[in-house]
Amino acid sequence: MPSRVPPSDDQLHDVEVLIRAHHPLLFVESIEEDRVHTLLAYLSDRIGIPLFTWNPNSGLSRLGPGGGRTAHTESPELCLAFIEQANLEAIFHLRGMTKNLDDPAMMARLKEIYRRYFKHRGTVVITGSDIDLPAELDPLFTHVELAPPTPDAYHQFVATVLRDISKRQKVQVELSQEEINQLLHALRGLTFFEVQKIITQAVVEDGRLDSRDLDRVFQAKRRIVERSGVLEYFPHEHDMKDIAGLTNLKAWLEKRQNTFADPERARAFGLDPPKGLLLIGAPGCGKSLCAKAVAAQWKLPLIRLDPSKVYQKFFGESEKNLNRAIRTAETLAPVVLWIDEIEKALGPGDQDGGTSQRVFGTFLTWMQEKKENVFVIATANDISKLPPELLRKGRFDEIFFVDLPGEETRRRIFEVHLRRRDRDPQVFDVDRLAAAAVGFSGAEIEQAIVSALYTAFSHQGTLDTPGILTEIDNTRPLYHTMAEKIDALRAWARDRAVAAE
Ligand code: ATP
Repeated sequence: MPSRVPPSDDQLHDVEVLIRAHHPLLFVESIEEDRVHTLLAYLSDRIGIPLFTWNPNSGLSRLGPGGGRTAHTESPELCLAFIEQANLEAIFHLRGMTKNLDDPAMMARLKEIYRRYFKHRGTVVITGSDIDLPAELDPLFTHVELAPPTPDAYHQFVATVLRDISKRQKVQVELSQEEINQLLHALRGLTFFEVQKIITQAVVEDGRLDSRDLDRVFQAKRRIVERSGVLEYFPHEHDMKDIAGLTNLKAWLEKRQNTFADPERARAFGLDPPKGLLLIGAPGCGKSLCAKAVAAQWKLPLIRLDPSKVYQKFFGESEKNLNRAIRTAETLAPVVLWIDEIEKALGPGDQDGGTSQRVFGTFLTWMQEKKENVFVIATANDISKLPPELLRKGRFDEIFFVDLPGEETRRRIFEVHLRRRDRDPQVFDVDRLAAAAVGFSGAEIEQAIVSALYTAFSHQGTLDTPGILTEIDNTRPLYHTMAEKIDALRAWARDRAVAAE
């Protein structure tokens, strides 16, 4: 690690208060043990008590002048025995001591340490990630969350890494101020260790740091998302040009783009970042496409909440999963969080002993209170399952209704999809196609083109207007199969939602 970036005053203050208030056992859930170590080193200076660290290879060592290893403390139990006997006003940082905590001898030691250290400012800090403390010990520990580094801390850290590399080789930074901001925002959610790796790789490869290196950052974020287990990362594949119609919705989004590009300036201007949108409408009309296109247009990562992974049969696990998803999204902010079919994902069911009620409640509270730059795009097809609380003011900024495309939009959808398959729309009678596809969703229009392409290919022919018209004739459009539902959606949306078109 390059030289240490000082922790923020807030972080120092929070943990200092706990130590001064005699909390003998702290548990910091974090994979960033180096950052915790730096924080504790600052605190030991500030409070004026020594810092010891332990790891399984070298045992317990006292840092600073006059420090050194403590003999025979490599095993976790001997280390705890030493701490218990020493009964010392000091900070003991135990790294990686998370495995044997349910061992009865270890538990007994920790309980005794708790009893003795309660009387002074000595503290044992255990760090690690994805650990459940044994139920018997849990109440003795104070859980501490390590706040993510501020953009300023990332800035300092990147500068330090670049300075270190420039001692060995020439480094060129080719980033405008705006790109630097983008990079610093993109780094959020990454550990310093990951940042160091990315920046070093980027610079060592071609001697410079430029806007193309942003991609590396997004890749690293993808790994974080996958680690969470409940979220899925989507690469940028679509942009706004891929969406025909939906002009109102696009204008709304365009107006808010800069808030995400420069959230600090927006805040200083008196604007909170938008919370998100609820898109309601018939299936296949471009709602999901919108989520993908917004992320691409705003140059933000897109992550999708996978509801099937949120729900677990064990009590309390589902809320934990949702909380983990929310926390991951927040550390990745600015980010677009896409919740597909929210009525199924988070709708309050009544068959599961209240689990979905609690999960839904957790989500609503978060939406109401969230401060982080997480833009939620939720989609829904079935209004009968939409709980009214979700529609209340303060949750989403706007509710848009995405209807079946009108004739002009159908024309544009044909053009978009012909072009995507390298066909020149001008060679087709797009007016005729659009007129024939009354009641079709965007997905059905795309499907008609794809089916016509298959037919043409199997006959070694070319894709043409009559071929697509035949497929249109063979399709029973959505409006026919779902007429009642779509009419009900339209009636519902009339005074509750804004038309996306
Ligand atoms: P669902 O509720 O079933 O998830 P949806 O409204 O989210 O449906 P999408 O998945 O966005 O629908 O649309 C399916 C496909 O249909 C898109 O990938 C796109 O190819 C095509 N499509 C739909 N609407 C449009 C549109 N307005 N412009 C271009 N393509 C569209």
